[in-house]
Amino acid sequence: MARTIEPDCRQCRREGRKLFLKGERCTSKKCAMERRPVIPGQHGASRKRVTEYGLQLREKQKVKRMYGILEKQFRKYYEDAAKSKGVTGENMLSLIERRLDNVVYRMGIGASRAECRQIVNHGHICVNGKRVTIASYRVKVGDEISVKENKQQLDMFKDLKGMKIVMPKWLEFNTETLSGKILALPTREDIDTDIKEQLIIELYSR
Ligand code: SF4
Repeated sequence: MARTIEPDCRQCRREGRKLFLKGERCTSKKCAMERRPVIPGQHGASRKRVTEYGLQLREKQKVKRMYGILEKQFRKYYEDAAKSKGVTGENMLSLIERRLDNVVYRMGIGASRAECRQIVNHGHICVNGKRVTIASYRVKVGDEISVKENKQQLDMFKDLKGMKIVMPKWLEFNTETLSGKILALPTREDIDTDIKEQLIIELYSR
């Protein structure tokens, strides 16, 4: 499976904001954005983002990195969104948000999207009772997401039992049964408001 090889914290420093790629470490004092929040490289600290293209590019890179998606697949989300009715930027974010690895992350099953991707790839998650190992699998309203029954005794899932997890209103997850449901499609207000999706659309429409 293709993935970016750039170290996680370096990606955050490059984008100038926390992308929360490393789970618990991201909220601790060890976070590189707390200790050294400058662009990596010899001239990083003195670099300025000035051009319009630069802003658009950085916004796209930020979202790609946040969700752990490579360029080809990310562009495909844009193309699919452009074909649908409604606002392209919002459609694109909604499609990305519906990835199974992201849903597992939002439900609190793993500490980071990378960990959730691995949980899915390793076959620990079922959709409507069937094991799904494709991280980019697109969930639909009514889908039931659960931790595979014979994996629920693994330490990483046992710790979840009875935990209170705050999640977006389009999702439901029961930490006793380790199963949940997609209640609605994610809307723009359910997604990280710090994303300026219009910049990404402008970049791809050039
Ligand atoms: Fe980013 Fe997390 Fe590293 Fe902090 S600890 S720089 S939020 S990946």
